[in-house]
Amino acid sequence: MTIRDEFSFINQIKPKTSFQHNLITGIGDDAAIIQQQPEMEQIICMDTMVESVHFTSQTMSPFQIGYKALAVNISDIAAMGGIPTFYLVSIAIPAHWPERDLLSIYEGMAKIANKYHMDLIGGDTVSTSHALTITVTVLGEIENGKHLLRSHAKDGDLVFVTGTLGDSAAGLDLLLHKGKDYQYKEFEQYLVKRHQYPEPRVEVGRILSNLTMASLNDVSDGIASEANEIAEASQVMITIDRDSVPISQQLKQYDEQRSIDLALYGGEDYELIGTMPEANWKTIKKQCEQVGISITKIGTVSKGKPSVLLNNKGTISNIERKGYNHFNF
Ligand code: ADP
Ligand code: MG
Repeated sequence: MTIRDEFSFINQIKPKTSFQHNLITGIGDDAAIIQQQPEMEQIICMDTMVESVHFTSQTMSPFQIGYKALAVNISDIAAMGGIPTFYLVSIAIPAHWPERDLLSIYEGMAKIANKYHMDLIGGDTVSTSHALTITVTVLGEIENGKHLLRSHAKDGDLVFVTGTLGDSAAGLDLLLHKGKDYQYKEFEQYLVKRHQYPEPRVEVGRILSNLTMASLNDVSDGIASEANEIAEASQVMITIDRDSVPISQQLKQYDEQRSIDLALYGGEDYELIGTMPEANWKTIKKQCEQVGISITKIGTVSKGKPSVLLNNKGTISNIERKGYNHFNF
């Protein structure tokens, strides 16, 4: 059954309790109101997911679509070093989508919102004759002056990345060939999950913003592209050591030959890439291990033309800025 009236739909997705103590009013009035904290900066970001561009019924369930739509926004807050707090959802619904699937989308969002104690405080509900489109806005906060920008990279910094790279792209490969309901082997299941349930690295963003002056970016389009964004914003040269790029056992098992290309150019890992002074490395690595997230040194920052180089056992080449681009028709 599709939605009959948006009011009963909104009533069903309206949270009954809230986590954030500074929320004055959430869903139910013309707008939400939040008490500002004088010691904090506000962070705001928005991302849109469109059916058949970002997901299809073959690759993602409604629950996963919701989870991921919020997770990718939280990842942007993580990449500033911030704490996610609130979210708003605008959803354009085609007539054929059943209400039960729409409620599943909100359950998927609630799953990750609960993990970070985030409150749903508003949104908009409209119908469309085109694809299902979900736009999520996330608010976050960070202590005054502690935000981590792409422009913070400096000559002499080391380059790091969290987790492993390329898994999500391999998972998408599998899903496009065999679909989400296929009986996958264990290592394949891992890759598919990495595509469907990205884990924003909020804890690492917090460790970094507390301890050091890092540059930071989340990996939505592959590190080749993200490292270039840091190099451009900071006007530095970044060299990545090919053999240091962290690749999971499961990705090697999937396709050892292609694994490095998937790691450099594959999208949607939602790990963090950044740079920091060498002096802070040991402490930060230890704190990341304590929260169960691996962090790997993969390169160095030097003076020079803004660009990203790949060091393959002493042979240096330019890494192209290729990754996913919506307007490469
Ligand atoms: P208005 O006519 O003032 O725009 P709406 O009927 O669109 O009010 O929304 C009523 C309340 O429900 C508002 O608080 C709005 O933020 C919230 N809301 C509407 N649609 C959604 C949605 N898809 N997800 C979350 N909150 C929503
Ligand atoms: Mg409205």
